[in-house]
Amino acid sequence: MASSSRAVLFFELLACLLCLLELSQGKEPFFTLKNLPPLQKASSYPAGCATTYDYIIVGGGTAGCPLAATLSLRYKVLLLERGGSPYGNRNVSYMENFHIGLMNMAPDSSSQAFISTDGVINARARVLGGGTCINAGFYSRASSSFIQEVGWDEDLVNKSFPWVEEKIVQWPKIAPWQAALRDGLLQAGVAPFNGYTYDHVSGTKVGGTIFDETGYRHTAADLLAAGDPNNLRVLLHASVHKIVFDSRQGRLKARAIGVQFTDENGRHHQAFLNSNKDSEIIVSAGAIGTPQLLLLSGIGPKNDLKNHNIPVVLHNKYVGKGMADNPMNSIFIPTRSPPRQSLIETVGITEEGVFIEASSGFGQSSESVHCHHGIMSAEIGQLSTIPPKQRTLEAAQKYAHNKLNLPKEVFHGGFILEKIDGPLSTGHLVLTDTDVQNNPAVTFNYFRHPQDLNRCVYGIKTIERILKTNRFSELSADGAGLSMERVLNMSVKANVNLIPKHTNDTESLEQFCKDTVITIWHYHGGCHVGKVVDQHYRVLGVSGLRVVDGSIFSRSPGTNPQATVLMMGRYMGVKILRERLGRAAGV
Ligand code: FAD
Repeated sequence: MASSSRAVLFFELLACLLCLLELSQGKEPFFTLKNLPPLQKASSYPAGCATTYDYIIVGGGTAGCPLAATLSLRYKVLLLERGGSPYGNRNVSYMENFHIGLMNMAPDSSSQAFISTDGVINARARVLGGGTCINAGFYSRASSSFIQEVGWDEDLVNKSFPWVEEKIVQWPKIAPWQAALRDGLLQAGVAPFNGYTYDHVSGTKVGGTIFDETGYRHTAADLLAAGDPNNLRVLLHASVHKIVFDSRQGRLKARAIGVQFTDENGRHHQAFLNSNKDSEIIVSAGAIGTPQLLLLSGIGPKNDLKNHNIPVVLHNKYVGKGMADNPMNSIFIPTRSPPRQSLIETVGITEEGVFIEASSGFGQSSESVHCHHGIMSAEIGQLSTIPPKQRTLEAAQKYAHNKLNLPKEVFHGGFILEKIDGPLSTGHLVLTDTDVQNNPAVTFNYFRHPQDLNRCVYGIKTIERILKTNRFSELSADGAGLSMERVLNMSVKANVNLIPKHTNDTESLEQFCKDTVITIWHYHGGCHVGKVVDQHYRVLGVSGLRVVDGSIFSRSPGTNPQATVLMMGRYMGVKILRERLGRAAGV
């Protein structure tokens, strides 16, 4: 059986098992936001619609929503999102459902699972609000060196971050497991304590969160309320499968003029820009969706396009190249009593480019699927393993079954995890077929670069120092502390990927890092500046087409990227407005 069919089979089996379980929990009411534009189904778009737009934005995600809201303040904007609404979706809105949303494999789920060719189980958003609807909520800005490196206007950056923060970000009421990490980090020397701050500063800090004190999630979709509802049309379940170009002879460059999309019933539609020369299609479909859509539209390596019978609009060998995902490795720490659920609130920022975070907790509701551990939950594929050669139908069935029935006692504790900055290891994305609903094949080549591996080892050693602190000794079952060998052993069994394990996993930290790598879902790249887009994120070699999302990054910003991606949506909106107004005024 081909590995892609096995992956499909694996997820189908899991989906069947999950049908037997309650897939959501939580209580009413959902927030209703004043001034949100109507969220219409794509099927409501009239056939042969004569309306044209100044901006068509593909992807209503973390960057797409603030961008659409900002541009709509002056111009007519159409926002096309392939997923549904986050409002009224319990799996999106309640923190206690974090793991349930991610493990829901239904075609209308807000999360679409994929397995990279490295064998790491991963997920991408499929809902208005994008990653902010399925993520762990931690909010922390990029460093000032990152802002300088990418060449952003610092004054505008410093106005754009608060624009986001005042609408959807709060300070967490710090959970016990997160407080323990804070103390452990400080006792282990990851100092000073920088208190509650959004800023990226060395030492230990508590960051922001998009969950409020009741555990209710605020998302990028909420930012649409800051736009002009009269200028902003939002279509849900609108899957864009092609950007339409005007490539008439005499044009120096092919010009993007519209898009083709299908609605929730599979019917085809087209939408077009008006004839203003400044009008643009802006692709904000995320680090997987954006390179995929460029390729489907004929921008990419010509041989790959020809293999899929896609007419070449522009040969560019760099589309889909430089994909990266920051590896995450985690250490399981058994405790005397089960810690309360927490996703990420505390972070240790080391000078060596390693970030230490934590996650804990079982679902608090009796309706909940048991045995989940925040971002380390078994149900979302972070625990257990099937070596590639044993990926038979029977093994997949057993795996899915065991994943749901891991006894509480097995993971009676919390996780400390480490993420490395960068990373320097990169891979690529290629189409597997021409159906936009299907995942392309993505390779990240975790730890191919030796510096990434050195950083991981440094991170595990830092966690070892944290474990040896009084704070963590007190938490252990007998109050006497835990040996590193024991927790490494438990962690090898705990972490799930489809990578074969080695007998020296607990003796060699390098081997431990490689064999237990999982994702923290901070994948980025595929449309790098200078290769696919220019420094204003306009796609090179064509006109009327821009990219604004995580695919333009060559390293992940900050400890966790969402703050910077949200900010970038607002920042680029203001920048485009300013430039366009400047041109109109002849300055
Ligand atoms: P997205 O937000 O994914 O937006 C892309 C949008 O485009 C999606 O809504 C998608 O449905 C839509 N789309 C794609 N293709 C098409 C198409 N062809 N037609 C129409 N629409 C399309 N970051 C943090 O800072 N803190 C965290 O705690 C954190 N935890 C995470 C946990 C998980 C499980 C995940 C998945 C991510 C996490 N992240 C976290 C990362 C962060 O959420 C992402 O980096 C960020 O949201 C990416 O934003 P984006 O705009 O690039 O893409």
